[in-house]
Amino acid sequence: MDDNKIISGREAQRWIVDTAMEMADAVRPTLGPKGMDMMLVDRIGNKVLTNDGATILRSLETKDPVASIIAEVAKSQEQNAFDGTTTCIVIMGELLRRADELISRGVHPNAIIKGYRLGLGEALKSAKAHSIQKDPYEAGIDAARTAITGKSAEDFVDVLSDICSRAAMISKPSDMMLLTIPGNTNDAELIEGLVLLKSPATAGMPTKITGKVALIEQDLAPPQAQVTLNDPAKIAEIVEIQQKFIEHTVDNFVKHKVKAIFCQKNIDSKVLQLLRSNGIVAFRHIKRSNMLKLASAMDCHVISDFADVNEEDLGQGEVEVVESINDYVTIKGEHIQAASIIMPAPTEQSGEEFQRAMEDALGVAYLAVKDQRLVPGAGTIQSLMSYDLLNCEQQYTGKVEVARKAFAESLLIIPQTLAESAGMDIMDVTVQLQTAPGLGVNVDEMELMTMLVFEPLGVVESALNGAVENAVSLLRTHSIILAKPIQEIFAEAERRKD
Ligand code: ADP
Ligand code: MG
Repeated sequence: MDDNKIISGREAQRWIVDTAMEMADAVRPTLGPKGMDMMLVDRIGNKVLTNDGATILRSLETKDPVASIIAEVAKSQEQNAFDGTTTCIVIMGELLRRADELISRGVHPNAIIKGYRLGLGEALKSAKAHSIQKDPYEAGIDAARTAITGKSAEDFVDVLSDICSRAAMISKPSDMMLLTIPGNTNDAELIEGLVLLKSPATAGMPTKITGKVALIEQDLAPPQAQVTLNDPAKIAEIVEIQQKFIEHTVDNFVKHKVKAIFCQKNIDSKVLQLLRSNGIVAFRHIKRSNMLKLASAMDCHVISDFADVNEEDLGQGEVEVVESINDYVTIKGEHIQAASIIMPAPTEQSGEEFQRAMEDALGVAYLAVKDQRLVPGAGTIQSLMSYDLLNCEQQYTGKVEVARKAFAESLLIIPQTLAESAGMDIMDVTVQLQTAPGLGVNVDEMELMTMLVFEPLGVVESALNGAVENAVSLLRTHSIILAKPIQEIFAEAERRKD
């Protein structure tokens, strides 16, 4: 397409709908436990197998404005609800496809938008009405189990969903730490505290301490002389100044009874020696994000100037180095409200994929533990919502009603897709669900039945809200201006000035 082109009206709508459909089609085959994996290959040739909708959409390198909006939709679903991204995009694609049909039949987008909004309100009510309340631990397990099913971590679903639910009862997902190490996933364990994949910065340091902990932001080293020195006496003088500095620094830690140090950057070898001889254990090159987690869990500060250590900057805890294939260190304590998971995985690639599955599962477990309202999954809730909307007493008239009905029918895309991926006949499934709505798709037995698969109400609500709100805003878009790259616009303006 030409630069700076304006596309408007029906042409713009077609483009939007086509792009949305294309993206929905790209992720649709991955939905559910029988969904296919996709192999993503980047430009450098790195490969990853995944069936996570958000990962796939993120990886589609695209300059297409509509496509990037849709990728954003997936991202915000993931941020709000941790799961349900594929569901959200697939429903949005279906809403737009049906909208496109209606527009071709002469229905104005505004009538469609109104019908969709009405449908959304009723569907959300219906979902609430069908939700069930469980106790927090059970709700967490059920939600995690559903999120893990169908991913490659599924073989370990019992161990992992128990861990997710217990972790979710302790801490927010953003404060959790998840470590993958080589090994057998059945040995995954939950640690009530923080865990870092680190060993002490030098051998001979204590491996278990209880006491004050300092988090240091900068290099733990004496200031470096920036001058070239020929005079040996001057060199000796500088070495001595540095030595004094080191002693003073370590004394300061000792004075404050610091027993463990986590340093974001490097620690000078002389400093290390002195720390060791004072019975202090030190860890270096800790990621910034982990430094912040440590600070948040221990309710202390990351110290930016180690020469100025204050009592209130320090944390307190029990720091223990655990020997394993990859040594790790645990930080626990009465006041430390954190959950960490050590998850062994057979290969690096499966480790990454398990990690993604666990991130979703921990998120939904957290939602479920907090809210405890679950709805039946495997397409059941969508077919219930659809049924309720099509059979409700209050009917509207005219084009708005046509759109509301189209909305209700769109919801069936979820059970239909699950059924399709299991190799079932879509027409049969659709007809059955329209008459007996409480059933879900048993993808193993290839039949519709009451399914004991649950997902948090919040995930379903958020996916539906996201699908509708974004479909509506795309339907509202009347024209697309393909602007030139900003640099070109500026360059032209400059040329005109000359
Ligand atoms: P999303 O990105 O939307 O979470 P998933 O690939 O995780 O996509 O698929 C989620 C869908 O799969 C949900 O509708 C969920 O109810 C369904 N599902 C999960 N476990 C099962 C199961 N054991 N049998 C049938 N459907 C299931
Ligand atoms: Mg999922």
